[in-house]
Amino acid sequence: MDATRRGRGLLDRVLAGVPAGESPLTYATDLPERIATLGDWPTWTPDVVVTALRSAGIERPWAHQAHAAELVRAGSHVVISTGTASGKSLAYQLPVLSALVEDRKATALYLSPTKALGADQLRSVQALDVPDLRVASYDGDTPMVERDWVRAHARWVFSNPDMLHRGVLPQHARWSMFFRRLTHVVVDECHAYRGVFGSHVALLLRRIRRVAQHYGADPVFVLASATVSDPATSAARLAGVECVPVTEDTSPRGARTIALWEPPLLPDYAGEHGAPVRRSAGAETARILTDLVIEGARSLAFVRSRRGAELTALAAKRALSEVDESLAERVAAYRAGFLPEDRRALEKALLQGKLLGVASTNALELGVDIAGLDAVVVAGFPGTLASFWQQAGRAGRAGDGALVVFVARDDPLDTYLVHHPAAVLDRPIESTVLDPTNPYVLAPQLACAAAELPLTEDCLPVFGGEAAEEVLAALVADGVLRRRPRGWYWTSRQRPHADVDIRGMGGEQIAVVEADSGRMLGTVDPAMACATVHEGAVYLHQGQSYVVDELDLESSLALVHSENPEWTTQPREVVDISVLRTTEQERFKTDDGEVTVCVGDVAVTSQVVAYLRRLPSGEVLDQVPLDLPERTLETRGVWYTISQELLCGSAPGGAGLKPARIPGALHAAEHAAIGLLPLFATCDRWDIGGVSTALHADTGEATVFVHDGHPGGAGFADRGHAALVPWLAATREAIASCECPAGCPSCVQSPKCGNGNEPLDKAGAMAVLDVVLAAIGEPAPDSRPDGVVVEGAAGSVVRATTQSTATS
Ligand SMILES: [Zn+2]
Ligand SMILES: [Zn+2]
Repeated sequence: MDATRRGRGLLDRVLAGVPAGESPLTYATDLPERIATLGDWPTWTPDVVVTALRSAGIERPWAHQAHAAELVRAGSHVVISTGTASGKSLAYQLPVLSALVEDRKATALYLSPTKALGADQLRSVQALDVPDLRVASYDGDTPMVERDWVRAHARWVFSNPDMLHRGVLPQHARWSMFFRRLTHVVVDECHAYRGVFGSHVALLLRRIRRVAQHYGADPVFVLASATVSDPATSAARLAGVECVPVTEDTSPRGARTIALWEPPLLPDYAGEHGAPVRRSAGAETARILTDLVIEGARSLAFVRSRRGAELTALAAKRALSEVDESLAERVAAYRAGFLPEDRRALEKALLQGKLLGVASTNALELGVDIAGLDAVVVAGFPGTLASFWQQAGRAGRAGDGALVVFVARDDPLDTYLVHHPAAVLDRPIESTVLDPTNPYVLAPQLACAAAELPLTEDCLPVFGGEAAEEVLAALVADGVLRRRPRGWYWTSRQRPHADVDIRGMGGEQIAVVEADSGRMLGTVDPAMACATVHEGAVYLHQGQSYVVDELDLESSLALVHSENPEWTTQPREVVDISVLRTTEQERFKTDDGEVTVCVGDVAVTSQVVAYLRRLPSGEVLDQVPLDLPERTLETRGVWYTISQELLCGSAPGGAGLKPARIPGALHAAEHAAIGLLPLFATCDRWDIGGVSTALHADTGEATVFVHDGHPGGAGFADRGHAALVPWLAATREAIASCECPAGCPSCVQSPKCGNGNEPLDKAGAMAVLDVVLAAIGEPAPDSRPDGVVVEGAAGSVVRATTQSTATS
C-alpha cells in the first residue's frame, strides 16, 4: 500500500470542507517513509542494563543511538541532534546507566528546560528498574525533608537549570560527594536554551563544570537537541566545551503529507483602517481540526497564543456538537500557565486516547513525549524551523501516513513561508542564537560564580575572556567583587543567586486572581503585564473569559472577574529610541544618495498608554486610555538610514516618494522587517521591536531601527545585521507576495504597533526597500581595512567600525 495514502486521504477530507471559491492550499508535498537501521548493544553494556532495556521493549538500539553511546563512552562531549521520537533518551541513558552500574559510587546529572519533561524522563529511567540504582528528582517541588536524602544517596539527579542555579551551586559544599563522583551531565532539549535564558544557561553550565572540577571530577556533557544546522557550534557555545555531533537519524518514520495553507481574505469585513482581513488562523485551524476529528484522526493543533488555543478548541467543540455531541467532548485545549493538576489530567486523557483533538500552545512541545499521531496542524509559524519540525514530528507512525498542515497567520513571515515552500522544506534549520558575553547576563553570572568559588585568571577564557575581564573590572568598581592578588572574591555574607533571574524575565510573576473567589487562575510575565493584564483587558483561562479590574504592579497581582464581552482588547504602546553607542557602521554611496547601516547599543523607552476594544471581525469599537509607568530598556539595535535625496529622487535611482509618504513607507518597511527577522535569528516577533522615523535626532536622517526586546540584547539584532541583505530581500518579497491592495496584517500591519498601524504605505515600503537593497545589495566587504573606500557596482562603500554617537 502507498505509504502516503493516509496523509493524502486526510488532506482530501479537509479540502472537501473548504467553501466554494476559496483556495487556501498553496502547496502540498509528500515526505517519504524512512526505514529503521538497527545497531547492536555496545559490547561494554552491562548485562543488567541490556536486560532492563529489553524488558522495556527495546530489543536493539538504532544505529545512531549505539554510535552516540560509543562516543560518550570514549569520553567525548556529544550533541545528539536528531528528529522528534528518534530515541535521543536511549542514546544518553545507555552510556550513563552503564557508568552508574559499573561504578557504584558514580553520579550523573540530568537537566531539562521544563519540569514536565524532567518528570517524564525520570519516570522512564525509574521504569527500567535497574537494580541498586537510586534516581531522584531535585526541583522546586521536592519536599524539604527529601532533599537531604537526594543529596546523600541519589546517583542520578534529575533537575533543571533554575534549581542548579538557586538550590545546588550556592551550597555546593553540601553536594561535594555528588560533584566529586560526577561522570555525566545530560542537557536535554538544549535548543530550548536561546536568547537571554540561553545565555544564562550557557554560563550556568560553565559554573557547573568549574565546581565539578574543583572537586576533582571532569564530567562528560551529553546534549540532546532538535535537528539544527551546525549543532556542534551551537552546543559548544552553550556548554563551553567542544562537542562531537551525531546527526544521522536511523529511527523509522512514517510518510507525511505536508500542506501549506493560507486562509482567504474575507470579502465582507474590514479591519484596522479598512484593511482586508483574512479568516483567522485559529478559526481555520478549528475547522480543519473538526474535519480531522470526524475522520477519527488523532490530531494535535499547535496555536501560538494561549488564548488562540482555547478559542480554537472552543470553536471545534461548537462545530462538532452540531454533528455529534460525543465528539465535541473529545476535544480540549492545553497550554502553559495551567496549574499542574489541570495539565496532568489533560495529558493523561490525550495519552489514553480519550481525546481525539487537542489544541495546544507550544508548551506541549517540551512537556510530553507524544508521537505517532495521524495529523498535526501548525497554526502560525512557531518561530523557528526547529520548533516547526518538532511539532510536525508528532505526526506519523512507521508504516502509516500522516498529515501536517501549516496554516499561515496574518503575519508577513507566515505569508512569506506559504508562498516560498523551499523556505520551510529545503532550508537548513537555524542554529540557536544566544550571547553569553552580554554584560547584563555576564555580570550577575560572574558574581554568582565568584560567590561559589573565587574566580582566577585561569577561569576567564571559559567565561568569555576579554568580555569577562571588562565586566569583572566593573563589578570591582561597583564594590560587588573584591580584587585580590589571587583573583576576584565575593565578600558579602549574602549570596547573589536569589537575586539573579536566569529566565531573564526580571522580577516576580504577576498572579492573576479571581477577586470573588480568591482563586488563582495563572501567572503572567512581569514584562508582559502592562500589555496583557492592564485594567479592562480581556483574559481567557480554560475557555472562560475574564475581565481585569485592577493591575497592582507593586503587589504583582491582577484582579479579574468572570465576564464574557463580545470584544477582545489590544494594548497601545508609545515607543521612543535613542542611540547610545554605534559599534559598527557601513556607508553605501550611490549616484542618487546614501544608505548607512549600523549596529550598536540603543535605549528604548516604552509605555502602554491605551487599549483598543476590537470585535471578532477586526472592527475597532473604541480606544480606552491607561495610566501605566514608563519602562526603559537598554539593548542592541540594528538600523539603517536613507538620505533625503534617495527617498525623494525619482525612480529608478531614487524611491520617488513625496515627503508626506515617507513616514508611512518607513513604518511599513519596519513592521515587515520585524516580521521577517525570525527567519534569520531564532527569535519570536515578540522578542524584538522597532522604531522608524523620517528624521531621527541621533542619525540626522530617515531611520529604521529593529532592536532586541531584552536588556543587553540576546544577539537577534546582531544576527539581523549579519544577514541584512537576505533579511531585507525576504522582507520585500513578503510584502510583494501579499495580494491585498494597500497593506494588511499579512504584510505591513503589526499587532503590536504603538501607533495603531498609522501611517502605513505598502507601495512606499517596497520603494524604500528597493533603493536600500540596490545600495547595499553587493555583499559588504568584511576583510577590508576600516575606512577604505571601495568602488563597486552598487556604488562606493565606506566602512568604519566603532564610531561613537552622542546619547540623546
Ligand atoms: Zn497585505
Ligand atoms: Zn508601528
